[in-house]
Amino acid sequence: MPIRQLTSETINRIAAGEVIERPASVVKELVENAIDAGARDIEVVTAAGGVALIRVTDDGCGIARDELPLAVERHATSKLSEEDLFDIRWLGFRGEALPSIGAIARLSIASRAAGAEDAFEIVVDRGAKQALKPAAIARGTRIEVRELFSATPARLKFLKSERAENMAIADIVRRLAMAHPEIGFALQTGERTALALPRADATPAGLLKRIGRIMGPDFMADALELSAERDGISLIGFAGLPTLHRPDASLQHLFVNGRPVRDRLVLGAVRAAYGDLMVRGRQPLCALFVTLDPRAVDVNVHPAKAEVRFRAPGDVRSLIVGALREALAAAGHRATVSGGRHALDMLARGIAQQAPEGDRQADVPTRSGEDQAIERPRPGTSSSPQAWAPRHSGLPRGFGEAMQAPFETFDVPSARAEPVALEEAADAGLLGRPLGAARAQLHETYIVAQTAEGMVVVDQHAAHERLVYQRLKAMHQAGEVARQGLLIPEVVSLDDDLACLVEEAAGRLSSLGLVVERFGSDAVLVREVPALIARGDVKALVRDIADALATEDAESPLEARLLAVLSSMACHGSVRAGRRLTVEEMNALLRQMEATPGSGQCNHGRPTYVALALADIERLFGRR
Ligand code: ADP
Ligand code: MG
Repeated sequence: MPIRQLTSETINRIAAGEVIERPASVVKELVENAIDAGARDIEVVTAAGGVALIRVTDDGCGIARDELPLAVERHATSKLSEEDLFDIRWLGFRGEALPSIGAIARLSIASRAAGAEDAFEIVVDRGAKQALKPAAIARGTRIEVRELFSATPARLKFLKSERAENMAIADIVRRLAMAHPEIGFALQTGERTALALPRADATPAGLLKRIGRIMGPDFMADALELSAERDGISLIGFAGLPTLHRPDASLQHLFVNGRPVRDRLVLGAVRAAYGDLMVRGRQPLCALFVTLDPRAVDVNVHPAKAEVRFRAPGDVRSLIVGALREALAAAGHRATVSGGRHALDMLARGIAQQAPEGDRQADVPTRSGEDQAIERPRPGTSSSPQAWAPRHSGLPRGFGEAMQAPFETFDVPSARAEPVALEEAADAGLLGRPLGAARAQLHETYIVAQTAEGMVVVDQHAAHERLVYQRLKAMHQAGEVARQGLLIPEVVSLDDDLACLVEEAAGRLSSLGLVVERFGSDAVLVREVPALIARGDVKALVRDIADALATEDAESPLEARLLAVLSSMACHGSVRAGRRLTVEEMNALLRQMEATPGSGQCNHGRPTYVALALADIERLFGRR
């Protein structure tokens, strides 16, 4: 084929492929334009996941009549100074969005410039620009995009469900809204009002309010405030306590000069700062606002501007890590016990080195978490066969057929006065068991047991939760999860998207003992709950379940995540939580653990107990 100059129509379509990936990209570009135009209120309306219609209305500066035809031309922008390409103070600057959208959809822009007598409208229908005509709007700009991707049907095939596209749209609007508390945002997807965020003050208090609306009350209740500045880079924001975490990074919001970004450097800094305070595989919540000289950051790395490049990445990173660490350290006692962790680490590490190849290694917390790959102990060769280090898949040496011990044995009512001789005989038998004979309970949390080869320390909560988990799983597999009807059905309000997810999962949930139905657009009604949770907090349960449903996690299948939610709830509401246990109850728990496969680790992958070999203890005291 001979070389030809491409038509502008084709060029625009190619550009659209980069800038407009899905309906949410259109929403992003249009809302950014409205923000750049100085709008005080922005309204977004979509239909059919944004494919049929996206309408963004603002009360900003508007576009003058003569400039309307130019606005839809490629590389036409009011935001870039050609003298200084790197002084970028607006969200837009490439002059690509409107022509790209016009190339692949039917775009109409009606606008009235501030102070102008009349309003005008221009239409670009899949690349064909039509003549200006008068419009009837009082002020600002109204942009409508219809039949998105009708000019590039291949793109349509890649779109997800309408709901998924709606969620992506809501996510974009939320992110932009977080950075601009002084602007009111409203989002209507289909019939539903997905977001209604009134204007707040452009002050830290206003920001806090806006963030609270988006991150939710749990986050705000414990959020640690951040404020740091160094070398012309400033950081403000809020970080969640380490005890608050999610399976993914979707609630880590990062803004650079008011622009929401997903930057690997910043995400890595957050991870490093939380380090081993964070449960493995989980992600903290935060909202970080980095402000620096526009020339010190290149936002033009990616057409959609989701990534940025800092001129001094090390400075940005250390500012973030430093501020987060400081805030977390100050909150230490609220979050997690940090005293003595170092010593325990060392101890655990030593023990891990004696565990069989590739087994316990992952259970040992690392000290800084900065560089897990290096810090993680290398498993040595198993030199201490007497140290009974169980594999997490179950118990060694002929323990029990699964679930042979009745679950309820842990519910031994109370200590009975047994003849002393009998107790001693029983005790001698127990010493030979893998988890030994219970000797003490410390801090209403740890059971210390003596074994033939040393001792075992059990985290009773983690163990209990795991037992309930396995029990539920077995019941679920047998199709006999006991449930209990609520006297008064409970209404739980949820985001409409989440309510949808719960409604869709109703069948699966009922096999887990939870009977729900949709209740209006943004709530569900709970009629029955698993009997194990009868006394628990139904609202919290449903919210956690909705979160689990909304989470995409290839590593753990949905059923497992749902079971984990249920068992954690069952233990939380249980009377046993934090209670002093009798020796019988402790022994019952140990026996049950022995009989339950997978009870060596809790639902979050942490160990439920640690075994210390006598030889190791003696070594600790220099006896060996
Ligand atoms: P960019 O935002 O990169 O400049 P766009 O194609 O998104 O490019 O928009 C082109 C121009 O149209 C903008 O520079 C701006 O002058 C004008 N414009 C777009 N949307 C609006 C709006 N909502 N209000 C006022 N002006 C707008
Ligand atoms: Mg723009």
